[in-house]
Amino acid sequence: MATLSIHNHNRDSAGYTYVYPVISRRAGGVSVGINLNPNNACNWACIYCQVPNLVRGSAPKINLQQLESELRGFLSDAVHGDWLQNHAPEGARELQDIAFSGNGEPTSAEEFPAAVEIVGQVLQEFGLANALKIRLITNGSLISHQPVQQALESMAVMQGEVWFKLDRATVDGMTEVNQVSDNMVAVKRRLIASAKLCPTWLQTCWFAIDGVPPSPEEIAAYLDVVREVREHIQGVHLYGLARQPMQLGAERLSALPSEKLEAYADEICSLGVMVNVNP
Ligand code: SF4
Repeated sequence: MATLSIHNHNRDSAGYTYVYPVISRRAGGVSVGINLNPNNACNWACIYCQVPNLVRGSAPKINLQQLESELRGFLSDAVHGDWLQNHAPEGARELQDIAFSGNGEPTSAEEFPAAVEIVGQVLQEFGLANALKIRLITNGSLISHQPVQQALESMAVMQGEVWFKLDRATVDGMTEVNQVSDNMVAVKRRLIASAKLCPTWLQTCWFAIDGVPPSPEEIAAYLDVVREVREHIQGVHLYGLARQPMQLGAERLSALPSEKLEAYADEICSLGVMVNVNP
């Protein structure tokens, strides 16, 4: 296996089904990904999604025993062996987090709550419980489901956090970018529910479509949502397009200049919210 980079997020890179280490600009080092969607199935179909051969659907049945053994095997190589030395570039040879973030929506797996418990136990065994944060990268659509809420409560006890996707804050915007039909009242309700159960960040990806950035109306609607939820959330992670979108029509998308993203970040910051920008 070659040295990883932020551009190589190949989920097969370590030869496992569920566990995939990546160099993460998000985490600033090696993020241990847990992929509960090896079938590339998601209930959304974001136009910028980087999952190859994405299909609509839910996670398949998860083999929890295999997940546990893969995680133990990888951590053993990384903590007691030379995996970091051999595969991570200099300056990024540190495990940063464990992220439920795979080829689809992790919370669509029936076994998601059990997987959270397993990750917590294995981290304890390796003495990493307080050193590695457990993150859930989610589109938030299933947060109202009781088992998902229980898992979020467990994550909170483990000092975990949720990154809740909000790319557009209008019905038309979500329909275009995330290819789902949802309403903003429900989205805000789920977001606040998530934040009450476990510390929650907004995760937002902004880019141009056919050379056109998000419209002033979209930006205003987004800022309105942030204003409404700001006392509940930890902050905002604002992303550009760093990796190649893998969906049909990807050629229509382009990254915004970093100054533009920074200017958007300043607007969000002016609402009294912490913003991390990753152009
Ligand atoms: S929610 Fe995530 S995995 Fe699902 S389509 Fe969007 S970017 Fe891809």
